[in-house]
Amino acid sequence: MAGVLRSITKIALKVFFSYNFPDVTIMHKEREKDMSDKKLATIGVFGGSGFYKFLDNIEEVKVETPYGMPSDNLLIGQIGPHKVAFMPRHGRNHTILPHLINYRANVWAMKSVGVERVISPCAAGSLQKHVKPGDFVICDQFVDWTDGRKTTFFEGPVVTHPSAADPYCPELRKLAIKTGKDLGITIHETGTVVVINGPRFSTKAESKFFTNQGWEVINMTAFPEAYLVKEADMCPLNISLITDYDAGLVGDVPPVSHHEVIEVFNSNLANLKNLLFNMIEQIPAERKECECALTKKKSQL
Ligand SMILES: [Zn+2]
Repeated sequence: MAGVLRSITKIALKVFFSYNFPDVTIMHKEREKDMSDKKLATIGVFGGSGFYKFLDNIEEVKVETPYGMPSDNLLIGQIGPHKVAFMPRHGRNHTILPHLINYRANVWAMKSVGVERVISPCAAGSLQKHVKPGDFVICDQFVDWTDGRKTTFFEGPVVTHPSAADPYCPELRKLAIKTGKDLGITIHETGTVVVINGPRFSTKAESKFFTNQGWEVINMTAFPEAYLVKEADMCPLNISLITDYDAGLVGDVPPVSHHEVIEVFNSNLANLKNLLFNMIEQIPAERKECECALTKKKSQL
């Protein structure tokens, strides 16, 4: 009886899987084949709020992905020895809200043109008094407070559990910290970014809760972008550009005027471009000091 049941279960499972997932394996194979078969760029940069243009003399490349259309075309130019692909994550006219960004398509687009390292700068709020507007935080941890986003490339049938213990690339973090300091930018070498879903900002109560956890930075786009970069065996880097204090600190810190916020925003952007140009020039051609390229391999059971 047990043997018969086992056989029936086996057949049922076979039928179920062949019925439900006939295309998944094929699609994965196609994705593997498509991904990285071109080498148009090796470094990727996602532009955030206010950061829509980066390089001159660009080649514009339209990429269609198995996950739909990305936020914009890739704009590919040159920095030092590297071809760099830039994409404004909200679209070049800032029309895509943080919770509606097709993060998988954006990251896949980078991977598909050969990108190996992805830098994700983002405008962010501070949750701690000592992290001031105008400072940069090179985050080493994130907390996912989002909801309803597509947050993984791994959808079976191969069982995969990636480690997110240290989500960002140690080599890129080291280089960003050193370059930022050399340029005189106030850099926080570590930090935790809590990513809220948006589009609304936090209530004072939520913000105070985040502050009380000891987290430093709050933002709406830092997850799942950089994490998907990791899943795709590329090196992720977060650079959080602090524009103002979050709601929970209002009252504890002097109020910031709209004019001051704009000033901070503009100086952040100038500092960011300076940091990116200088650090990208120094990125070595080969990835020898990190294991980001092995993420998928190490994730499979
Ligand atoms: Zn890496």
